[in-house]
Amino acid sequence: LVIGVPTEVRSGERRVAITPQNAALLLKKGFKEVLIEHGAGFQAEFPAHAYEEAGATLVNASRVWTDSNIVLKIRPPRLRSTTLSPNNFMEGFREGGVIISMLQPNLDRNKPIVDAYAKKGLTSFAMDMIPRITRAQSFDVLSSMANIAGYKAVLEASNHFGRYMTGQTTAAGKVPPCKVLVIGAGVAGLSAIATARRMGAIVRGFDTRSAAREQVQSLGAEFIEVEIEEEGSGGGGYAKVMSKEFIEAEMKLFMDQCKEVDIVITTALIPGRPAPTLITEEMVAAMKPGSVVVDLAAEAGGNCEITVPGQLSHHKGVTVIGYTDLPSRLATQASTLYSNNITKYLLSMSPKEKHFGVDLHDEVIRRSIVTHNGALIPALPPIAP
Ligand code: NAD
Repeated sequence: LVIGVPTEVRSGERRVAITPQNAALLLKKGFKEVLIEHGAGFQAEFPAHAYEEAGATLVNASRVWTDSNIVLKIRPPRLRSTTLSPNNFMEGFREGGVIISMLQPNLDRNKPIVDAYAKKGLTSFAMDMIPRITRAQSFDVLSSMANIAGYKAVLEASNHFGRYMTGQTTAAGKVPPCKVLVIGAGVAGLSAIATARRMGAIVRGFDTRSAAREQVQSLGAEFIEVEIEEEGSGGGGYAKVMSKEFIEAEMKLFMDQCKEVDIVITTALIPGRPAPTLITEEMVAAMKPGSVVVDLAAEAGGNCEITVPGQLSHHKGVTVIGYTDLPSRLATQASTLYSNNITKYLLSMSPKEKHFGVDLHDEVIRRSIVTHNGALIPALPPIAP
């Protein structure tokens, strides 16, 4: 079987689905060829010669599609070619081919892609639908990318903050440590807390799930709380929508915090819902000049009223960062982890050399498959806690 890896063409996307190291591993495991589009790894700092040394074959875009049985990608392909991106074109892909990428198949905007897969008789998998159960941890791109986003959020914040993160006493004067508030202590939030702590900041964390308290504290941060008692855990360990009273109490707490802290990083998400608005215009205006907000929920509508998704903006002396491509801004690391995730996932379906099989009784496969030889496979309800 031949693996194909096209260049990602979505604007701002710098990652590549397979690194040279994993290309070599796939060949060693018995795949006949790994076809890499010329330039696919360029923006993630994986040069052409590294793929060649790994035994992969560099080809043009059309050959990746026409000559591969299995295509590995970060983003789903474009359905039509444009003058600017003639390369992300799956028209030449063979009927019965397999495509694995992130997909978000339940979103209306991605329905045309799923329909096109079905029409073409493809078998397709969504990396973002892999259940987050222990057995599937090594395939979990949501965690590996959220981990990077949390880390990079702190770096972006510190780049736009005019002082040190850590406190210092120097001959030139005493510098107080920066104070950071992290809202939402899931994978991204915990990564942001750990990074800000390592940089010497005073860090506070908040989450609606009580299980987050111990995790926040174990990283050396303070867990701040509201007086209302309400458990925020819903199905599968994810958050549920909180009562109006809770959100109001939470926002009052954040108003007080915004007057005190220098950096706010928001990561609050509820699966399948728009992100809750937690930081209002008034709260941003109450922050000290030079403060920074990084809104990691920007793609889902944002936790901050001022956020412009994908953009950096300024409001009354405060920088508000709404970048939606933070993993891609650390492209080498993100590609390395994504490539490890997707390679392990593919190899889980290829237990024997030169063999690829879809086992619909395997829970991980069943929950992440989208089409099977063109048949639409309906999504299952979330796993109960
Ligand atoms: P997420 O990205 O969906 O949400 C981020 C955080 O926002 C969550 O911690 C959530 O509780 C919080 N949140 C939601 N509404 C909020 C509000 N109003 N105020 C403050 N915070 C709010 O979450 P995630 O990072 O994907 O992780 C969710 C859970 O899944 C965590 O418990 C995590 O440990 C768990 N998880 C388990 C595995 C595994 O076992 N394989 C893998 C990944 C994540």
